[in-house]
Amino acid sequence: MIAAARHLLGAASVCQIRRAAINMSSTPNVLMRLVATAYSVAEKSGVIVRNIMSGGDLGIVEKTGANDLQTAADRLVQQSICSSLAKKFPQITLIGEEDLPYEEVEDGLIELGQSEDVLKYPCPPQYTNIKEEELVVWVDPLDGTKEYTEGLLDHVTVLIGIAYEGKAIAGVINQPYYNYQAGNDAVLGRTIWGVLGVGAFGFELKEVPDGTHIITTTRSHSSKQVNDCIAAINPDKVIRVGGAGNKIIQLIEGQASAYVFASPGCKKWDTCAPEAILHAVGGKLTDIHGNPFEYQKDVKHMNSAGVLAALRNFNYYASRVPDSVKQALVP
Ligand code: AMP
Ligand code: MG
Ligand code: MG
Repeated sequence: MIAAARHLLGAASVCQIRRAAINMSSTPNVLMRLVATAYSVAEKSGVIVRNIMSGGDLGIVEKTGANDLQTAADRLVQQSICSSLAKKFPQITLIGEEDLPYEEVEDGLIELGQSEDVLKYPCPPQYTNIKEEELVVWVDPLDGTKEYTEGLLDHVTVLIGIAYEGKAIAGVINQPYYNYQAGNDAVLGRTIWGVLGVGAFGFELKEVPDGTHIITTTRSHSSKQVNDCIAAINPDKVIRVGGAGNKIIQLIEGQASAYVFASPGCKKWDTCAPEAILHAVGGKLTDIHGNPFEYQKDVKHMNSAGVLAALRNFNYYASRVPDSVKQALVP
């Protein structure tokens, strides 16, 4: 029976898992149970990411080219997240980045626990009657893979985004190497989570001082257009780091004031969890035009019109994007 739930994982392909014997679709608060489970699954993902690195064999494969890589960590974490969530929530739609063949997943990759801390928070009233089959989960098993292969370990995150009616409403981000340069006593890794109407947790919210403009952007997918757009904003400082998850963490921790990426390349699994967490603390993430992203199961995966995000003063950054950049980036 459980094997029936295993035809997930397909990347770029949508996987709906239905298991008739257990039907929890009408259970209240499916959202908070899903977030609590995603939290535990993301923690396990962090362990897998670290174990692959310490094992020394990353198993690197080029997908579309040298700047689009997949490692054993991307593969195993995707299997772990998708098979774990599918077992407990057989009717959700799971969309993961990696295009993996249908296969049995080892028991050791399955995580069925749930965070009791998350479950202490009541579900916001607007989400209490959500049915399991109405939720779409966007999974980036390893965001910042290029940086992972280059040893820039704190750029790496695991992203589990939850969407309802096309909107990113909850997200979990694990940062496996948080604190890795902080000395032996520091706890390695952390998990940040958020739900619209509840808030976001697992970090200390900080803001860049008003009037200071620090842009965070790509380090490995840059272009003239990406740089022209940043130059038009005339920032005080530009930080170039890997990962969409990492850049949103910089926004909510006061290291950067805007995330600007005037290029296609990011996908829905890159933005869903970060967007939900940023929005849960009052920030905004959209395409470069200021249009919201849609996360229904049948949407185009590519965010063709770039990414623009800020914790505060979003409209200022949106107003500085040149028309030439907007014309070049069609949604
Ligand atoms: P970056 O800021 O370059 O680390 O990109 C954030 C996310 O978008 C990562 O998951 C990248 O893999 C993805 N991404 C951005 N641009 C591209 C691209 N040109 N090709 C493949 N993936 C990209
Ligand atoms: Mg990614
Ligand atoms: Mg990835």
